[in-house]
Amino acid sequence: MVPKQLTPSRPAAAAVQDFASRLRGELIQPGDAAYDSARKVYNAMIDRRPALIARCADVADVMAGVNFARDSGLTLAVRGGGHNGPGLGVCDDGLVLDLSRMKGIRVDPAARTVRVEGGATWGSVDHATHAFGLATPSGFISSTGVGGLTLGGGIGYLARTFGLTIDNLIEVDMVLADGRFVTANAKQNPDLFWAVRGGGGNFGVVTSFLFKLHPISTVYGGPMIWPLEQAADLLKFWRDFIMAAPQDINGWFAYITVPPAPPFPAQFHMKKMCAVVWCYTGPMDQAEERFKAIRAFGPPAVDFAGPIPFPALQSLFDALYPAGLQWYWKADYFRELNDQAIGLHVKYGAQLPTMHSTMHIYPINGAAHKVGAGDTAFNFRDVNFAQVIVGVDPDPSQNARMIAWAKDYWLALHAYSAGGAYLNMAMDEGEDLVKASYGNNYARLAQIKSAYDPKNLFHMNQNIRPAQQA
Ligand SMILES: Cc1cc2nc3c(=O)[nH]c(=O)nc-3n(C[C@H](O)[C@H](O)[C@H](O)COP(=O)(O)OP(=O)(O)OC[C@H]3O[C@@H](n4cnc5c(N)ncnc54)[C@H](O)[C@@H]3O)c2cc1C
Repeated sequence: MVPKQLTPSRPAAAAVQDFASRLRGELIQPGDAAYDSARKVYNAMIDRRPALIARCADVADVMAGVNFARDSGLTLAVRGGGHNGPGLGVCDDGLVLDLSRMKGIRVDPAARTVRVEGGATWGSVDHATHAFGLATPSGFISSTGVGGLTLGGGIGYLARTFGLTIDNLIEVDMVLADGRFVTANAKQNPDLFWAVRGGGGNFGVVTSFLFKLHPISTVYGGPMIWPLEQAADLLKFWRDFIMAAPQDINGWFAYITVPPAPPFPAQFHMKKMCAVVWCYTGPMDQAEERFKAIRAFGPPAVDFAGPIPFPALQSLFDALYPAGLQWYWKADYFRELNDQAIGLHVKYGAQLPTMHSTMHIYPINGAAHKVGAGDTAFNFRDVNFAQVIVGVDPDPSQNARMIAWAKDYWLALHAYSAGGAYLNMAMDEGEDLVKASYGNNYARLAQIKSAYDPKNLFHMNQNIRPAQQA
C-alpha cells in the first residue's frame, strides 16, 4: 500500500510499502476507508491521528511492527482492547500496533488454564471458559481488553476470592523492543515476569497470556440499590461488612443515576441512588442465608441479586457503557474509609453531573492481600479500597462540568488516601503519579526497563523511564 499523504513524521513510501508487504494483517493509512474507525478508541475524548495502523494477524506481524517503528524512529502505540482512559492504545503520527485481530483463546480444562492472545477482550474469555464451568479474575465489564487490564493489575468481581488478574497469570509470550520473542514466567525471564504483573505495557508487546482458571460457573450476584438518603449508613454498613467478610463474597459500592429503561422500575428512573454490586461464589445452597445479613441492613429499593451465570454478571453493564462516550477518570487508593471520608462521599455522590457519571469503590482485600507488595510490580497490596470517580456522557459539551466534578470530588477525598492510584483508572497525570503508584517497586521497574527497553520505545503507557534516563 502506498501512503496517500506524506508528512515529515512519516517514513518514505518505499519503506512503508516494504513494511506492508511483510504483514499478514492490513496496514491502514490516512485516506483509507477504514482509517477513521480504526483510529477510534473507546473514550471519545481521544482524537489522535496515527500515520499508520497495523492490524496484526500474528506474532510475526507484531515483530515486524516493533522492528519497523524502532528502525524508523516512529512513536509506537500498542492497542489491546482500546479501553484505556487516556487513550494510550493510540498515538499521533506514529505507528499503532492494533492487536484486535489476535483474539485466539484455548482452554485446557484438565490443567485448568486458558491461553489468550494479546488482543482479546474479557467477554470472549468468559464465553470460552464458562463452557467448562471455569473462570479467571478479570474486571466488571466484558468489553475491556485482556492486555491493558492484566498488565495494570486487574481488579474485578473475583479479586477477594482469587486475587487480582495478575495473581492468576502463569506466563506471557512477548515481543521485546529489539524484536526478540521471549516467554516470561516464574522460571524463564523471572524479572520480566515480575515487571509485567502490574508494570503495564512498558516492557514489550504481550502476544499471549496464560491464566489459571477456577471452578466458577453460576454465582449469586448483581446490584442492590438503595435511596440516596441511606448512602452514609450504607457506606458504613458495606465498609464493615466487606472488611470482615469471608473471601467468597465480593461487593463494590457505587453512586449511580438509575437509567430510564427496563429492568429498572419506572419510579426510580433518573433518580440518583446508591448501590452495591455483589458476587458470591460460595455454595449456592447457602447463598440466600448469607444474603439475609445484607438485606437486613434495610430492604433495597431495587434488588437484582440472585443466581446468575458469571459471564452474565460480567457483562451486566456493557450496554449502559457502549464505546464512544466521553470519559474522564480520577483514581485513588484507601487503606480505610473513615466517617469523615464517608461524609464527603455523601456530599459529592449527590452531585453526579450526568446520567452515566459514577463513583465506585472496589474492595481489594481478601485474596489480593495474600501477595506481598514486592512480589509483583503492583505495589499497593495493603490497601483495602480502590476508588474511581468517572465523569461520563455522550455529549462533549458536558465535559467541563463533569471534569470539574470529578476533580473536586477526588481532591476532597484525597486527603484520606493511601497515595498512588490504580493506574489503569488514571488519566495522564504524569510521572509523579506513576512513581507514587509503584512506590518501592519503581527503582526495580526502572532497572528492568533499562535492560529490556533502554530507549523507551514502549512509552505510550503509564511510563516507567529506563533507569539511565530517570
Ligand atoms: C468501561 C471500563 C470498565 C473498566 N473496568 C475495569 C475493571 O473492572 N477492572 C480493571 O482492573 N480495570 C477496568 N478498566 C480499566 C482498564 O483496565 C484499562 O482501561 C486498561 O488500560 C484497558 O486495557 P485495554 O487493553 O482495553 O486498553 P488499550 O487502550 O488497548 O491499552 C491500554 C494500555 O495497555 C497497553 N496494552 C494493551 N494490550 C497490550 C498488550 N497485549 N501488550 C502490551 N501492551 C498492551 C497499551 O499499550 C496501553 O498502554 C475499565 C475501563 C473501562 C473503559
